[in-house]
Amino acid sequence: MQELREREVRNLIGGEWDPADGRETEPVYDPATGEVIAETPLSTAGDLDRAVRKAREAFPGWAATPVTERARLLFRFKMLLEEHFEELRDLVTLENGKDRNDAAGEVRRGIEVVEFACGMPTLMMGESVRDVARGIDNVSYRFPLGAVAAITPFNFPCMVPLWTLPVAIGAGNTYILKPSERTPLSAQRLGELLSEAGLPEGVFNIVNGAREAVDGILEHPGIEAVSFVGSKPVAEHVYKGGTAHGKRVQALAGAKNSMIVMPDAVLDKTVENMISSAYGNAGERCLAGSVVVAVGEVADDLVAKLREQAAAMKVGPGSEEGSELTPVIRDSHRQKVRQYIDLGEEEGAEVVLDGREPPLEKGFFLGPTLLDHVTGDMRVGREEIFGPVLSVVRVDDLDGAIEFTNGSPFGNACSIFTESGAAVRRFRENVGAGMLGVNVGVAAPMAFFPFNGIKDSFCGDLHATGKDGVRFFTENKVEITRWFSGP
Ligand code: NAD
Repeated sequence: MQELREREVRNLIGGEWDPADGRETEPVYDPATGEVIAETPLSTAGDLDRAVRKAREAFPGWAATPVTERARLLFRFKMLLEEHFEELRDLVTLENGKDRNDAAGEVRRGIEVVEFACGMPTLMMGESVRDVARGIDNVSYRFPLGAVAAITPFNFPCMVPLWTLPVAIGAGNTYILKPSERTPLSAQRLGELLSEAGLPEGVFNIVNGAREAVDGILEHPGIEAVSFVGSKPVAEHVYKGGTAHGKRVQALAGAKNSMIVMPDAVLDKTVENMISSAYGNAGERCLAGSVVVAVGEVADDLVAKLREQAAAMKVGPGSEEGSELTPVIRDSHRQKVRQYIDLGEEEGAEVVLDGREPPLEKGFFLGPTLLDHVTGDMRVGREEIFGPVLSVVRVDDLDGAIEFTNGSPFGNACSIFTESGAAVRRFRENVGAGMLGVNVGVAAPMAFFPFNGIKDSFCGDLHATGKDGVRFFTENKVEITRWFSGP
């Protein structure tokens, strides 16, 4: 395979890096400086079709490769990811803007899915019952689906592709990745490392691009299943389009996550967790806590401490030691976040801390914003802002906090901060979110559990990662057997 020039973005089709010639492109920025660092080719339906053909050609050979050999390849891939850990971390920081610690956390979480998928011989096990009738046995086997596709967002350019690719290829599928056009570099490096690990040509393919490439995936008859991660409107579009074309689809969507604080919470630790949940990665996480629901008398103290700690955050590039609040992904997104803060003010929220005009001139930075006295009737209390803006809602009791939370159309994550087991139980039994945190601000499940948004945060049946992920990328055959020549 030919070497790529640094930061050259190409499609990977059937083991070859495609020449980018002639295609339209979209600029990739370093969010910390605003400089253009690469150009993403916007692939056409023809590019996608070639990738699908290559993936389908590679499928029979890969599906017939013993699962132990596929697992061994994943072990080699895991070793290469470890070897290139810092390089991948820095690539994430470069194209996404998040700080090195967050970027390292992202790469680590991605590697954990590869480790999970290394157990594919066990994960692929079917079930059996002998003697379901006299001399008759019933067995189920798991089979891969064929060529599958994944469409991923900008906010975790390394981890989100790794949520599905090791599981899908470990189970014997061939795979086409359509990374975010805003952050294509990490995915490309994953492609190079997979080739270095010895993955046969055509098993992993990359088709860069935007809307046209996505719509091509939804309509292409050669793709069996689509995994999508991104915003709610696009998730709905992908779910409807993919299922209308007979595909299996999982679409992980947007969020508006509450963090409930009970009066007995350990306040200093709670505030520390909330600051990192709300402002870490510039608030561009689907698990970011974006609304604090303060119960009873805790509110005034809590707001004062949140304000003090948020105001002390160092705004700066992710590559610089000590930066705590890093840039958002694009200037247009920064404008959108500013408009939400304006809107919150118009709706009657109190702007306790105003981050609209950050201290840095270059790059797409915002300062931390804290809005108090937000209610469920305000758009800032209900819509996903996806920036460093934290809203505070004040309620009288836990039931009020649960009622506020359940008024959200989203159901990705929700956290409670308390030392009361009874409050935690009431919270767990009644709150409408699929990932729950108890004194944990970012309720991220480990690789062996599903990434489990519900309500408008998810369209589909089987989630990504964990055993759900294995089921999503496989189908069963159930065999019933008897032998006439037996006794
Ligand atoms: P996005 O929806 O803009 O883009 C996601 C993907 O869809 C990209 O690959 C993009 O090229 C493609 N796309 C964008 N617009 C399209 C259109 N009109 N038609 C077809 N395809 C289109 O999302 P984003 O801004 O990259 O990522 C942020 C969003 O992702 C947030 O809403 C966040 O909550 C969500 N997210 C959710 C999870 C989760 O697990 N639920 C995880 C990470 C991010």
